[in-house]
Amino acid sequence: MSHLDCLSEVHSECTDGAAQRSVYLTFDDGPHPFCTPAILDVLAEHRVPATFFVIGQYAADQSSLIQRMIAEGHEVANHTMTHPDLSKCGPGEVQRELLEANRAIKTASSHASVRHIRAPYGIWTDEVLTASANAGLRGVHWSVDPRDWSRPGVDAIVSSVLDAIRPGAIVLLHDGCPPSELQPGTGRDLRDQTILALASIIPALHDRGFVIRSLPQDH
Ligand SMILES: [Zn+2]
Repeated sequence: MSHLDCLSEVHSECTDGAAQRSVYLTFDDGPHPFCTPAILDVLAEHRVPATFFVIGQYAADQSSLIQRMIAEGHEVANHTMTHPDLSKCGPGEVQRELLEANRAIKTASSHASVRHIRAPYGIWTDEVLTASANAGLRGVHWSVDPRDWSRPGVDAIVSSVLDAIRPGAIVLLHDGCPPSELQPGTGRDLRDQTILALASIIPALHDRGFVIRSLPQDH
């Protein structure tokens, strides 16, 4: 199966949310000690849920943030242990990346129930789909990508989300950074644009009649 065929096997949108104008916010590559609390503050202020696709090795270091996510009604999901390109990993390594991340999340919070996975860089392969299914994880891709990680400016992030949003959309944002891309001194301003953009995106979505929901658990 090609990567594109594999992509059709994972959810990029939630069609069952279309009738209710549901949309879904997802955050990848955390938890980050400075960025994630600020994202959680914005979500709490507006009382909306999100799904955090966390990197296992960060979850192990930031267990209090995993606990806070769950306590505040968010879903914690699997984004592998070390964020490799899984298409370059052998089947054993793929499985290890998934299972170790699951274990790290559950060690951080015994209340975590990990149901979804997003492959790093959105690179899905047969091996990834098989290992995910074996681990009881459902693949989740995205349909709206404002490329916030590239720091295009707050207004650019807001307008790319609002221009592309539609019922059932899954929005990709970032509350952290993969280990391979962390620069020395990367800290408080890493996701400052994402945080400011989020504070505008949520009320704008509400104004347009969208309801921000948790990812459905039964698909
Ligand atoms: Zn990622």
